[in-house]
Amino acid sequence: MADFGIKEALSTLGLEDINNGSSTGTKWFSNGDIIESYSPVDGKLIGKVKASTKDDYEAVMKTATEAFKTWRTKPAPLRGEIVRQFGEKLREKKEALGKLVSYEMGKSYQEGLGEVQEMIDICDFAVGLSRQLHGLTMHSERPGHRMYEQYHPLGVVGIISAFNFPVAVWAWNTALAWICGDVCIWKPSEKTPLCGVACQNIISEVLKENNLPEGISCLVNGDYKVGEMMTKDTRVPLISATGSTRMGKIVAKEVAGRLGKSLLELGGNNAIIVTPDADIKMTVIGAVFGAVGTAGQRCTSTRRLIIHESMYDKVKNAVADAYKQLRIGNPLDENNHVGPLIDKDAVKNYENALEKVVAEGGKIVVEGGVLSGEGYESGCYVKPAIAEAGNYYEIVQHETFAPVLYLLKYSGDVENAIALQNGVAQGLSSAIMTNNLREAERFLSVQGSDCGIANVNIGTSGAEIGGAFGGEKETGGGRESGSDAWKVYMRRQTNTINYTTDLPLAQGIKFDL
Ligand code: NAD
Repeated sequence: MADFGIKEALSTLGLEDINNGSSTGTKWFSNGDIIESYSPVDGKLIGKVKASTKDDYEAVMKTATEAFKTWRTKPAPLRGEIVRQFGEKLREKKEALGKLVSYEMGKSYQEGLGEVQEMIDICDFAVGLSRQLHGLTMHSERPGHRMYEQYHPLGVVGIISAFNFPVAVWAWNTALAWICGDVCIWKPSEKTPLCGVACQNIISEVLKENNLPEGISCLVNGDYKVGEMMTKDTRVPLISATGSTRMGKIVAKEVAGRLGKSLLELGGNNAIIVTPDADIKMTVIGAVFGAVGTAGQRCTSTRRLIIHESMYDKVKNAVADAYKQLRIGNPLDENNHVGPLIDKDAVKNYENALEKVVAEGGKIVVEGGVLSGEGYESGCYVKPAIAEAGNYYEIVQHETFAPVLYLLKYSGDVENAIALQNGVAQGLSSAIMTNNLREAERFLSVQGSDCGIANVNIGTSGAEIGGAFGGEKETGGGRESGSDAWKVYMRRQTNTINYTTDLPLAQGIKFDL
């Protein structure tokens, strides 16, 4: 099989002889079990890292805590300059990192490049933001007093990330946390550890070139047990965790139990509403990319298509026709549209979902199945499937992280479609396809979508970094990336200064001595 430049990419990223998994910057160590990273693309072993033990974690934590004392005193624009240089390094290594993302996670090379571009974009955003960490000034009710708010960094920020965005989610968090004056400890998914090592190698070059201390960017590796070291640790004021709702419920409880802050980015169950006024061509593109892009392994993947009965057959046939053109295979080969699922467990979940929807009375529109034979040796390639279903089906309530699209029918007004769209436990991304202004505005109104993201004439997946990203309900309520998401990485302090010789009390309270 062609190598697609993987060997060269691994060498560019310094991944040829990796064994450790804990790092404080240029220093690497680890004494835990070996984690082997196999590619879902061809089933081959890419490399090995070592999990972090409790002692490794302590060493990382100690260095990070020390580094914070230095880092927080650097002016924010100077911290922005470091993030600018990081963005430049990412530009240099974009192809190599994009390839690694594609090979270790299984998304298409184009999507791998897109993920690195998101990292670059958030760096640019953070650089500008480093001069705009504004607080408000208020008018004091007391004469000769000045009152204002300022933002200070929190300390050590813990980042726990999912396999499906193995590099971008870290950058969303860390670029903002750094300019805010925090230092970070990152635990990437145990399914994509090499992406973590590659990112750490890139940032540590920048930190070294600027003579900055160890500990500003730290990496630990391992499964939930290492994640728990972070969530239980009172020295970590903020845990930003991205992953399943199951994980989020555990993390939320743990962090809240010690009154820490958590930023949760969890599962979605995203729908596109297709109204009688929808543009069919746009609908098909939005729905197909949303459902099969990243093999249905985006938190924002389209899982449900809620179609008006007057359009139902037309849309169903158009989407089913489009599925016939999908090419499934090696995601590094740019002729293919759909790559593999992350592992065989994910394949099992996909098969279970298809069995369940049929058992509940659903009708298969586009047949699924696991692919075998040449090019599919990893056993992780599946056919994107479509099934007609009821919104009340048990299986439709859950996020199956695979390319399974459910078709649902609505009749009457757009309100009925909105009720179906909102009628699940998750609240990440939603979309409406319509050229009818009233329907679009209704969807965006207070009676409309209950999701963190609501799009008009765009699918559910593919957010830009400029807006705050996240969702409601079981998606966790967190917001990261653009807009004012930076505030979560800082603590707010209200300052009142008296420049008189009197000490008047607020609310006019008299206290004469
Ligand atoms: P996962 O929940 O299995 O794991 C995510 C991370 O959490 C991993 O690093 C894992 O080691 C860690 N973890 C698991 N249990 C933990 C615990 N008890 N304590 C501390 N850490 C723990 O998720 P996954 O399979 O890697 O990713 C897929 C899920 O992530 C999907 O549900 C997807 O929707 C979600 N996701 C959400 C967003 C978003 O922004 N909302 C983005 C990407 C992925």
